[in-house]
Parts: sequence; structure tokens; C-alpha cells
Amino acid sequence: MHEPIGWNSGVVVDAGSSRLIFDPTSGRRLGEDWNVFITHAHSDHTHGFTTSARKHSTSETLRIYESLSKRTVKNNHTVKVGDRTRIDDTEIRVLNAGHMLGSCQFQLFAPNFSAVYTGDINCVDTLTTLAAEHEPCDYLIIEGTYGHPSYVFPRRSTIYADIIRWTMTEIGEGKLPTFQVYSSGKPQDIVRLFNVYTKVPVVCAPGIARANGAHNENGLNLEYLDSSTADGKRALRAGGCVYVTTTGRDHMPRNASRAVATGWAVRQAYRSFASFPLSSHADYDQLMQFVAEVNPKGVYIFTGYTDILSAQIERKLGIKAGPLPLLAQTKLLDFGRC
Ligand SMILES: [Zn+2]
Repeated sequence: MHEPIGWNSGVVVDAGSSRLIFDPTSGRRLGEDWNVFITHAHSDHTHGFTTSARKHSTSETLRIYESLSKRTVKNNHTVKVGDRTRIDDTEIRVLNAGHMLGSCQFQLFAPNFSAVYTGDINCVDTLTTLAAEHEPCDYLIIEGTYGHPSYVFPRRSTIYADIIRWTMTEIGEGKLPTFQVYSSGKPQDIVRLFNVYTKVPVVCAPGIARANGAHNENGLNLEYLDSSTADGKRALRAGGCVYVTTTGRDHMPRNASRAVATGWAVRQAYRSFASFPLSSHADYDQLMQFVAEVNPKGVYIFTGYTDILSAQIERKLGIKAGPLPLLAQTKLLDFGRC
């Protein structure tokens, strides 16, 4: 059977005469005849920005990537949610993904089929994004990061309340509550949490501060201090603040009381850390609900619990599902030339 969708260092879609790849994991071999679609600014999704191919991303994703990588991207076509772009005989529509600021899904209308590639999605509102939207399609290509029935998150408002309660307790005991996270997405949600619901100053490591700046250029209005500035250093010395950082134990202030915020905290115990199941991804229930609402003919899962989620979708929803098939290397090289 002709397979229009597969994995070869990225999600490749055979849409007839068009050469389309989504979130490539390697920049090599993708020349100017390729169209590269980048869903969001996390580093495992942004290799496409280093290629000479024509890139398609939102302005927020581009700006966050440029601020963190300190690179300038050329040949990028900026899109926004709701836009429709035509490449040869395929139309591509941009949908919100709810994963972080600027994150999007891509919906394709090829001559013989339609598809949605979700990238990473989250299906509840956060303090920095709205929940992912869902649209009907023939093939749904979806992540499965938390696609195991044991990964069901508490309500987000409950997690936010737990974070604030823990933080206030630590400050009351003279500690420096310190969140260790990646640079973009979740740290901005944490900064906004303290901005909106408390008067506690937030100090951020320089990389996170750069990402905060890119978020503020896109209307988020985060209030924070950069830990590398005199004001930031003074606040850390004085205490009574929150510290958000990417760095490890070696660079921790002595009075740091460390916490992680990750969906893995649902099942995993962390020694010497407080942990909160605050995630930028959909949990198992959200993924199943999303698939049910899209109700495609077939589901391809490209990461995470691919086999377990496939089995659950087939058994509970009666929709054909499986891991995204690997395309042969020659298929990538020959793709679009036959
Ligand atoms: Zn991501």
C-alpha cells in the first residue's frame, strides 16, 4: 500500500509533487527544494532553522529560537494561527497547539488525503497559551509523550496552587525556592504564575531571561529580574524571591530549595527535590479525547508511548493506529522526483 506519511529524520509527507518535512531532527540534505515546517521553539524541533530549505514557522517561534540560539534565520516564511499556505497542489493551514507561546499544528489538504501533524500539544489552557484546537482529517500524526494510562495529571489549577503553597512555605523558612526547568515554555508559565497570583519577585537565569524577553516582545508582559544583573544578584542575596534556572546543583545558591516541574512527576519520585506535575504536554486522557474528537481514519504516533497509545486507541476508540512508519533512506533522497 502506498504510504503517504512516514519518519525520516522528521515527519515526511508525500503530498504528490511537494517536498514537505515537519520538525526535521537533522538539517543535513535539506536543500532549497524542501519546505520545512517548524511547530515550536523547543530545541528538539528547531533543527530545520539551520537548513537552507524554505522554512515556515510562527513569528513567536522564530523570535524565541533566535533569542536562545543567538542566530539569525534566513528564508523563513512567517505564519500565524488561522493562516492558509499553498505549496504546489497542497494547502497547509495553521492550528494552535497549546504547548508554548507560538506553538502550532499543521493541517494539510493534499489532492488525495488530509492530515494533521500536531507537533507537541497540550489540551488545557495555561497562563501563557490556549488549549490545542482540533480539526477533522484522514490521518492524524500525534505525539505520545504521556500516552500511557498511568499519566493523568491533576487539574492545572490544583498544580498551580500546590506550587505557590510550597514556595511560600520555603520562603517562610528562609530558603530560596528554585525551579530547574528548560529555557522556554514552562519557565514563562511559572514566572507568570507568580506575577499574577503573588507579589513575590522572580529572578531568572540569563538564558531564561532571554526567552522571557522574546515572550514579552510577543505581548506576554512578564516581570522578572535577570540573575546576571546587579538587581538580580541583590534580590537573590536578600531572599524572599523565587529563582527559575536551567543550571545544575554546582551553581545553586547555598540556601536553594530545589523543585522540578514535569509531567514525569506523576510517577517518578525525585530525591532532594520537590516535584510538581506541571507539563506543557497533553496527558493520556487529553490525547485520547483529542483523537476521539478528530476521529480520523488512521493515527500515526511519532514519539513517546507509541505502541501502548496505539493499542489503547484501537481498543477503546476503534480507530486504526500505529507508530509512524520509517521511510527508507532512498525514499527521502528520491522523494518528489518520481
Ligand atoms: Zn516541545
